[in-house]
Amino acid sequence: MESEGRSATKAAEPLTRWDAVVVGAGFAGMYMLYRLRALGLRVTVLETGDDVGGTWYWNCYPGARVDVPSLNYSYSFSPDLQQEWSWPEVYSSQPDLLRYARHVADRFDLPRDIQFGTTVSRADYDEDASAWVVHTDAGGRMLAQYLIAAVGCLSATNVPDYQGLDHFEGEWYHTGRWPKGGVDLSGQRVAVIGTGSSGVQAIPVIAEQAAHLHVFQRTPNYSIPTYNAPLDPDVEREWKQIYAEHRDRDHNSAGGIYFPTPERSALDVEPEERQRLFEEGWQKGAFGMMQTFNDLRTDLRANDTVADFVRQQIKRIVKDPIVAETLCPTGYPLGTKRLCMDTNYFQTFNRPNVTLVDLRAHPILEMTPTGLRTDQGPYEFDVIVFATGYDAMTGPLLRMNITGRSGYRLAEKWQDGPRTYLGLGMAGFPNLFTITGPGSPSVLTNMIVSIEQHVDFIAEMIDNMRRRAVTRIEPDEAAEDAWVAHVYEVSQKTLYKYAESWYLGANIAGKPRVFMPYVGGLNAYRRRCDQVAARGYEGFVVTAGSVHA
Ligand code: NAP
Repeated sequence: MESEGRSATKAAEPLTRWDAVVVGAGFAGMYMLYRLRALGLRVTVLETGDDVGGTWYWNCYPGARVDVPSLNYSYSFSPDLQQEWSWPEVYSSQPDLLRYARHVADRFDLPRDIQFGTTVSRADYDEDASAWVVHTDAGGRMLAQYLIAAVGCLSATNVPDYQGLDHFEGEWYHTGRWPKGGVDLSGQRVAVIGTGSSGVQAIPVIAEQAAHLHVFQRTPNYSIPTYNAPLDPDVEREWKQIYAEHRDRDHNSAGGIYFPTPERSALDVEPEERQRLFEEGWQKGAFGMMQTFNDLRTDLRANDTVADFVRQQIKRIVKDPIVAETLCPTGYPLGTKRLCMDTNYFQTFNRPNVTLVDLRAHPILEMTPTGLRTDQGPYEFDVIVFATGYDAMTGPLLRMNITGRSGYRLAEKWQDGPRTYLGLGMAGFPNLFTITGPGSPSVLTNMIVSIEQHVDFIAEMIDNMRRRAVTRIEPDEAAEDAWVAHVYEVSQKTLYKYAESWYLGANIAGKPRVFMPYVGGLNAYRRRCDQVAARGYEGFVVTAGSVHA
């Protein structure tokens, strides 16, 4: 039986004792619970929402959809699960992804170990007890040997600090905290601020509902049509016959989704041939165009050719030449800010009820009781939608107020940017593990594949610790320093350094500019983790002894 919701919130009892506390019941937290339970640990999962699903619980804004095909973007750990589940569409909608998360939760009886409606307010390492003391906003306190952050990379929402927002008399929402029952936008005057992946997905759907939609764009984005469609049952059947092979290929690919490596450079073909291949790729949709040549993401001149092609497409689709020009991304290579995938995004600007406002030319001066004001004058709305992104990767971890050994605060450790070993743990913070933390491939990959790799690594490390009577494990400072240096070094060899992106923390005022994800590829990263484990958890320091949790 699938659940409709899990609003029966159970408040945490003061000082309950656990082997492990997992924070977050998204895809990472759910699988972590499954693995730790199988090892015989007493585990509790703390989840702010009142249901499982994480990203797919919170992001229920109009048009929300995954941009990786669901046959790839789904758990691989259970052959039965992957055989019995059917996806209606190639790229699943948020409601279908949430339905899947609920199905997985119920199928593996996960909710009995999840405390919904419970947010971690603080976590302190108690050296005497060799355990974490986890505090919740409901006043609960938990003692646990292991603390595992499965809080996601994009869960700390960013609402710009506009003067006057408190006085806005209409409704406003952030895409990442969209009301569960939905919002009726029909006949409303709506503003969307932000044109990243969330805005690009929401704008075409909101435009169909609203009386009028104003889109406030700061940086134009490269976006490619997905041409989403119902999933062909023959494709699904054939895929499922050799699911293990598909999974294996994804797991050993650079991005967690397998593509054959193109043979040629974009610079080795005549312009006409290049144009023809880009056209063909564009028609395939989504990543098709990026698979035409092998250097589109690595060589600036090759990247220019594909960026030019996308600008041509925008100018072809958008009828008003001034609007088209305003929508054209320039000044940063394609793919160095997250490449958006859309359904009718640029077409939406041909609608009579849609107006584009260029915030580069006319920044927002203030919010007003009836809308907002730029130097062009006032704009009036009933509803404002903030598609303004996240304090990515570090934000969700820092919001947990973590203090490690000797009173060392995570905020202090990371004041100049995140420092981790493999994105899995931090020196000074014993038995704290991060799933897809900064310094891991995470957001540059198919997230579920990265999540499964991390969860498997952490579960096996904990199992190994228990068998060796190790009570504490934490990264060695020197191994962490070397990994941080490596993450930086690899990022500098790519085109990512040319963009002011959230990967770099550039979207949050005052955030240190450090390229956070590991760009060396999931395949290389996986090999490295396997090697670390095979060498007895090389780079980690262990302490034997007894636990008082
Ligand atoms: P985002 O990519 O950070 O985009 C935020 C947008 O808001 C940008 O256009 C940004 O402009 C703008 N913005 C931010 N602060 C602003 C301000 N003060 N004034 C005006 N504009 C402002 O956030 P997102 O669209 O939520 O996407 C975040 C990530 O979530 C994506 O990159 C992707 O990894 C993931 N995601 C995935 C999917 C999917 O799978 N289909 C869908 C949605 C999100 P600037 O660019 O100038 O900063």
